[in-house]
Amino acid sequence: MLGLGSKNIGIDLGTANTLVYVDGKGIVTHEPSVVAKNSQTDEIIAVGEEARAMIGRTPANINAIRPMKDGVIADYDTTAAMLKYFMDKALGGKSNHPQVMICVPSGVTEVEKRAVIDAAKVAGAKEAFVIEEPYAAAIGAGLPVMDPTGSMVVDIGGGTTDVATISLGGIVSSRSIRMAGDKIDEAIITYIRQNFSLLIGERTAEDIKIQIGSASIEKAKDIDAMTIRGRDLLSGLPKTIDVSATDVASAINEIVLAIIDAIKETLEETSPEIAADVIDHGIVLTGGGAMLKNLPEVISDATKVPVFIAQDPLDCVAIGTGESLKNIDVLKKH
Ligand code: ADP
Ligand code: MG
Repeated sequence: MLGLGSKNIGIDLGTANTLVYVDGKGIVTHEPSVVAKNSQTDEIIAVGEEARAMIGRTPANINAIRPMKDGVIADYDTTAAMLKYFMDKALGGKSNHPQVMICVPSGVTEVEKRAVIDAAKVAGAKEAFVIEEPYAAAIGAGLPVMDPTGSMVVDIGGGTTDVATISLGGIVSSRSIRMAGDKIDEAIITYIRQNFSLLIGERTAEDIKIQIGSASIEKAKDIDAMTIRGRDLLSGLPKTIDVSATDVASAINEIVLAIIDAIKETLEETSPEIAADVIDHGIVLTGGGAMLKNLPEVISDATKVPVFIAQDPLDCVAIGTGESLKNIDVLKKH
């Protein structure tokens, strides 16, 4: 038996955002996966939203670090410290050594998986179990994962796009590519630098993506241009320019096409029965990247399958991870 007040928690440890789900309560924290540290002493100055506000604005003695990269841990100690902060915050500061279910992208190595489990334990978990992200996303999106019918989910986060077909409680085929929100932001930064000799930061690039980014170059014509500020590479001075949505759509198209290829390859690998189920029920998009304008239409045109965005796409993985806490006792027997 668990002690009084000892709650199990589910964690969506994402490249961009970390969400904590507390058993019986639901999602209690949702913050950027960012840590600000003193570069001399390594002391943590801020975590989450507060640290994110510092990105690109830190003086020499402060580093704003994103400890997760491409869906996996890039900086182990910082990830463990960040997890501890979010877990304590979610549980109201009471360090009661919860059991933790935490997600990893499909297709990560055993070493990468072990690093996530160990980081959760260092952060205070009594025991930690992993669940594959697309499976959790499918549960959170309300797909009938346990039924003898094929479902397809595409989770587009900051670091990875995870594509999976699921049936009878398991993943049938999957792909994880390191092409998602961050790569789109990088493509925008490169495009603006090469075409306008203007240097912009990652926060500005993300704003451009969210406001005028479009998965369809053609439909970008209907979106207004955006005025942006950065630093002129030649003069070194601040400069303001207008960028058109069509140009931004062209700049990010390579990533959109890579996501479509991953979906097509995953579909090709499935049995005819599952492919037929997916055609009937459609593909469900989750993760923040699902909100890129015109994405469902573009994927649907390329695959000839209906495409839907899940309700609350940013929350699906955390909800699915939280719901699978129910199975923690079963997992412990293995
Ligand atoms: P992760 O699971 O990797 O932490 P999330 O699922 O939280 O990622 O999604 C974060 C990504 O979604 C970021 O790259 C962010 O810029 C992107 N994003 C958020 N809102 C939008 C939007 N409206 N349009 C396009 N991308 C978005
Ligand atoms: Mg995610």
